Amino acid sequence: MDLWYTEKHTDAAGITLRIRKSLFSGESEFQKLDIVETDEYGRMMLLDGLVMVTERDEFVYHDMVTHPALFTQPNPKKVLVIGGGDGGTIREIVRHPEVELAVLCEIDGLVIEKSIELLPSMACEIGGSNPKVKLHVDDGIAYIKEHRGEFDIILVDSTDPIGPAVGLFEEGFYQTVFAALKEDGIMVAQSESPFYHADIQKDMYHNLRAVFPIVEMYQAFIPTYPSGLWSFAFASKQYHPIKDFDRERAAQRKFHTRYYNEDLHLGAFMLPTFARENIT
Ligand code: SAM
Repeated sequence: MDLWYTEKHTDAAGITLRIRKSLFSGESEFQKLDIVETDEYGRMMLLDGLVMVTERDEFVYHDMVTHPALFTQPNPKKVLVIGGGDGGTIREIVRHPEVELAVLCEIDGLVIEKSIELLPSMACEIGGSNPKVKLHVDDGIAYIKEHRGEFDIILVDSTDPIGPAVGLFEEGFYQTVFAALKEDGIMVAQSESPFYHADIQKDMYHNLRAVFPIVEMYQAFIPTYPSGLWSFAFASKQYHPIKDFDRERAAQRKFHTRYYNEDLHLGAFMLPTFARENIT
């Protein structure tokens, strides 16, 4: 008998994946954590039953939450990730030679522990001994209040706006992010699916525009996320992701990226009309 895992994206639609076996199932004080082996997408992490990352398509998300900001900011030395306990975003950040410090602030230590144990291709840097990487198990909302003017870039790699992540989508949080960034800092946050989450996007981008002078949305194709069309919010104090983008610098990068490239950087900000309408 085949075993299938289904995540419902609405009451009447979702994704279903055939499962080989469960590698871990447990509960932290914040959420239920499962790591399973799928036939189609390799190992997959679920939090409260929602797909977080899979081995096969995580490269899309981790390229796109990281590289547009780090190739727009001219000298990204200090980068903070809020959430991101699977380690994939930190892995991409430290590929940039300019980075001197990559801080992970993840609220759930169990996610870090099990990612290091069972998702080594993503957690390689948070489970390694890279002196540039620092781990904190803490609420990102509290953490950044203690770090004013410290970071060139802050990446919010959070779960959906439920549970401990609710506050990560509110104007008050964006004000503390603004304060924690240097005067030419950039914030990127995953901003859900333009296809299914228009309401969340409208509020989120309204809140961002109340705080940051430059706010743009960009998109990526992530097959295991609701609808496959995913988005990111780019919020910046000084640099615009297209006007101030140094295409040559991105083209000269010394590392291979399977999704991001210097042309896609520009194309990702060219939105379908319905997505643009979600945020105007
Ligand atoms: N790429 C995934 C996505 O877009 O849904 C996110 C993956 S990562 C596992 C999400 C992480 O955010 C979770 O491990 C969760 O514990 C963490 N998180 C949620 N709220 C948080 C908060 N307030 N502070 C720090 N981490 C938080």
